[in-house]
Amino acid sequence: MQEVTKLNRNGLTISTLGSHCSLQLLKGAKDEGFKTLLISEESRLGFYQRFNFIDDIFPVKSFKEFLAESCQQYIKRKNAILIPHGTLIAYLDNEQIESITVPIFGNRWILRWEADRKLKQRLMEESELRTPKIVETKEHIDKLCIVKLHGAAGGRGYFLAWNKESFENAATKLIQSMVIRSENELYIQEYVIGVPVYLQFFYSPITRKVDLMGVDRRYESDIDALARIPAKQQLELCIEPSYNVIGNSPLVLRESLLPEIYSMGEKFVETTKRLVHPGIPGPFCIEGVYDRDGRFTAFEFSARIVAGTNIFLDGSPYSGLIFDKPMSMGRRIAYEIKLARRKAALRMVLT
Ligand code: AMP
Repeated sequence: MQEVTKLNRNGLTISTLGSHCSLQLLKGAKDEGFKTLLISEESRLGFYQRFNFIDDIFPVKSFKEFLAESCQQYIKRKNAILIPHGTLIAYLDNEQIESITVPIFGNRWILRWEADRKLKQRLMEESELRTPKIVETKEHIDKLCIVKLHGAAGGRGYFLAWNKESFENAATKLIQSMVIRSENELYIQEYVIGVPVYLQFFYSPITRKVDLMGVDRRYESDIDALARIPAKQQLELCIEPSYNVIGNSPLVLRESLLPEIYSMGEKFVETTKRLVHPGIPGPFCIEGVYDRDGRFTAFEFSARIVAGTNIFLDGSPYSGLIFDKPMSMGRRIAYEIKLARRKAALRMVLT
């Protein structure tokens, strides 16, 4: 692997790809006094030029050009740190992300653990999170299951199955519409009935503290739209709901749930330190369901900032308990970079 470029501690720029949560990230960076750089697809240039906290925009035809020498050299000349988010993961594979020579905020190696179902399951189990039962083959489906595609598909193409036949019917449709090539690309998990919740954490290796920064829920099409259709029509329409994320809304949890949430976050951080050096500096999200007994089952994690943090541009009911100023996740990242720079410890938050 090529070496990551050395930064000059003075005059740092914060950069990211123009999508997902880039507005929040660069607004937060500007609020903390950094220069900002956006890599934007040409089709969105006009949109991003509206925002005066974006100092500089590097245009690309497609994010696939991000690795091109011209783009990488430009970012380096700006003495910039790259903040990864869902769009980087969607456009580049693990090897490509790991080979980026621009310094990345957070642990670039852990993104592989997010993308690979087996590694993901191991990290969650070693963190002692309760997880849904994995169903090895379609022959073993004997209760309601959710069937997922590999990778960060954003819930697109997921379906519910309750026996072998219902699995085969939906899988055939995905094959016919060329979303997948074979059933082997699917991953079957027990469906947990309850309230889906997204816990947004930040870990600071500088202060050694884990903070809950916010909680959201996702608004997913079609599953969240189904309740707007009366039962009679639902039965007649035979809709196969998808779980494509359209937006997010804020959530405040019962206070009595918070101590357990903090220990989940702390155990997760400790496990990442053991399994994927240097652990998880920065934002991450534990995603799961609270059932009727108030028990939490985690079905996913994201090892970087999630788009649900966009709701809390002015802080959340949780970040407000910790900071005296409005603190979005984007601003928290910039603040951590400032703390690390002050302590000459940038290497603790960058890889
Ligand atoms: P994911 O891509 O894994 O975050 O899942 C997308 C959506 O599917 C989630 O927001 C949930 O609504 C739903 N979901 C995923 N896994 C489960 C599960 N095991 N039980 C219930 N709902 C789930």
